[in-house]
Amino acid sequence: MSNYTHNLPAVVIREPVMFPYMQLNFDVTDPLAQMAAGEAMRRDSRVFVVLQKRPEKEEITSGDLYETGTIAVIKQIMRMPGSVRLILQGVARGIVREYTQIAPFFECEVTEIDETYAEYSKTEEAYCRVIKKKLEEFFAVSPSIPAERVYKVLSINHLGQLCDAAASMVELDLNIKQALLSELNFTRRAQILISNLSRAVEVTEIEQEIIKKTRQRMDENQHEYFLREQLKVIHEELGEDEAAEAEELRKRIKKAKIGKDGTEKLMKDVDRFERMPPASNESAVIRAYLETVLDLPWLKPKKEKFDIIKAGEILDEDHYGLEKVKERILEFLAVRRMTGGKNTTVLCLEGPPGVGKTSVARSVARALGRKFVRVSLGGIHDEADIRGHRKTYIGAMDGRIMAAMREVKVKNPVMLLDEIDKMGRDYKGDPSAALLEVLDNEQNMEFRDHYIELPFDLSEVMFITTANTLDTIAPPLLDRMEIIRLSGYTASEKLHIARGYLMDKALNKTGMKLEQIEITDGALDKIISGYTREAGVRKLEQSIEALCRKAAKTLLETGEESVKITEENLSDYLGRERYHTDNMNDTDEVGIARGLAWTSAGGDTLSIEVNVMDGTGKVELTGKLGDVMQESAKAAISYIRGAADRLNIDGSFYENKDIHIHVPEGAVPKDGPSAGITMATAVISSLTSRPVRRDVAMTGEITLRGRVLPIGGLKEKSMAAYRAGIRTVIIPKENTPDIDDVPEEIRGGINFIPVSNMDSVIETALK
Ligand code: ADP
Repeated sequence: MSNYTHNLPAVVIREPVMFPYMQLNFDVTDPLAQMAAGEAMRRDSRVFVVLQKRPEKEEITSGDLYETGTIAVIKQIMRMPGSVRLILQGVARGIVREYTQIAPFFECEVTEIDETYAEYSKTEEAYCRVIKKKLEEFFAVSPSIPAERVYKVLSINHLGQLCDAAASMVELDLNIKQALLSELNFTRRAQILISNLSRAVEVTEIEQEIIKKTRQRMDENQHEYFLREQLKVIHEELGEDEAAEAEELRKRIKKAKIGKDGTEKLMKDVDRFERMPPASNESAVIRAYLETVLDLPWLKPKKEKFDIIKAGEILDEDHYGLEKVKERILEFLAVRRMTGGKNTTVLCLEGPPGVGKTSVARSVARALGRKFVRVSLGGIHDEADIRGHRKTYIGAMDGRIMAAMREVKVKNPVMLLDEIDKMGRDYKGDPSAALLEVLDNEQNMEFRDHYIELPFDLSEVMFITTANTLDTIAPPLLDRMEIIRLSGYTASEKLHIARGYLMDKALNKTGMKLEQIEITDGALDKIISGYTREAGVRKLEQSIEALCRKAAKTLLETGEESVKITEENLSDYLGRERYHTDNMNDTDEVGIARGLAWTSAGGDTLSIEVNVMDGTGKVELTGKLGDVMQESAKAAISYIRGAADRLNIDGSFYENKDIHIHVPEGAVPKDGPSAGITMATAVISSLTSRPVRRDVAMTGEITLRGRVLPIGGLKEKSMAAYRAGIRTVIIPKENTPDIDDVPEEIRGGINFIPVSNMDSVIETALK
């Protein structure tokens, strides 16, 4: 071992221990050490790197330094703000002989220890193996050490160098490292190393375990957070606000009170939405879905205030007449109140168009202080219209019920299901079955729209339905409903409604003032009789509106202050009269009898004409009569044959006469049995040549024996008769109680003649 001695500036450090062959990047902040480095650069770049014994000590003397250090070459020196960075390459161990300078920096005589020789004895080889084995264990638990460094170390066969290389890589106590540096004997150095390596391996193992665990925990808690942040950045970079939107959606979901399951499901959907490429189809679909669901009113409604007196006042305020209807509605509301809203029947307002069904329902909402929403069911024939399309369909949407809920935005509206009788069905399923579920209190707490997918509670909704007729409503649906009939108005009621309600509405709509337009009673009467033919007041309302519009135009054109509309100038505004009062015939005629029909627009008269000619006993029916009416005609003829003698009719008429029955007037539906006695009367009149009184109208079903059976719609029929100027009406005896339903003014003007058989009919009707 040949040793040289050098005089070198000393760089004193607190850590780490530098070993020969090791490269060290090292920032020097101590000005004295910086000076030493500068001095070294001026010479041959060599320095003596030595550790101070107690790192915390500030003022140090030579006694505070270890004797053994490392001689190193400064490969590079970089001035940094406040420090100097040295890149040092270890050369060899050095032992201080003496300090030749203390201030301003240490300088010392150092003996360089040459360790390049090697014995490569068996013992050394064995130590090498043991060390390498330990190192392998260590590397196994220290995944961050680069593979090439591992190979480099494991390929060293020089025991001393192997110890040094290992010591510089493995985390060991500073004192132990210094001890390894100070130990010049290779085997002893190896022993120190081995005894400490095992511990280092164990500590590292534990350390790795701890890191792994904390990372796992962090993974669980924050991994998602990191991803989200990353995603946000990506979206920001792309200039999209998808993430912000998702955040917004999440907030809305939390606020919406959808329930635990629902919230979870929607949150998942938002996650999915966020992960999707922003402009994609799917993303638009999910967004639309989430928006739709969140637009629904999930929050609990406020408790409703209900005061039956007030409700009555509101109904009166909004509607003229309709006493019975209002009464029944109040009863219904009272019962509903008593049962806590849990009665399962649903109101159905039945009646012809324009009689105020919608507006009554609106009033009910006002009386209850609830919001109102209308769903039109007319023409619906697909179950999905009620229950929505499944999301898998392109362009899927929620059904009309959910759409209406989104529209009103409260959970307890009054929902009007309009024209429930016009709902059809087809191969796509039966909407009335779905509707049944909507109306059923047992089931509608968890109504499931196919599109919405989450159950929605409809039990707070008050449903009201409307129908023109009950005939086409599915029986199970009909079962659920409490029917209230609105049958139509008399002319004078219409006049009141026009004055008290429709005028105001029309003025409001057209922006006219009351003093700018005057419509006389005569003009209104004429509109009612000549321009509209309806049970309700819809056309009347439209006509009044039209008058207001036209008057407004006139005012502007002429600069006048106001317009007066009278019976005389009405046609200047509305054109020619469209209807003429049902023509009561000018004279009593043979073979023409007047029946009464009940139509969806109220009632109407129906004249039945009969011609009897010589022939072979044929019966011809024209005028597009329905099956029931045809049968009714045949029954009438059978009756006449049977009663021919009594009626003074030649008994062989069915052999030598042809009878032609015709029912003109296209607008009236010609089916139903109630024209039975009318047809019989017309035929008898023809066969006997006795004229029919032109001021008599009649309604009633006939049996083969001439009994007269009851009919429906007496109120509407009487009103039609009255309109036509007819003052005597023959009705089946069993309908007598119905006369009470006929409005007072009409009842007073008509002579009702209840009959139970055909003889009485003939007695009254024929001259
Ligand atoms: P429906 O729903 O039966 O077809 P609407 O409720 O739409 O009829 O009524 C048509 C118009 O007539 C509405 O403007 C309504 O306010 C008015 N109306 C109907 N009946 C009355 C009434 N009894 N009193 C006041 N206005 C009425």
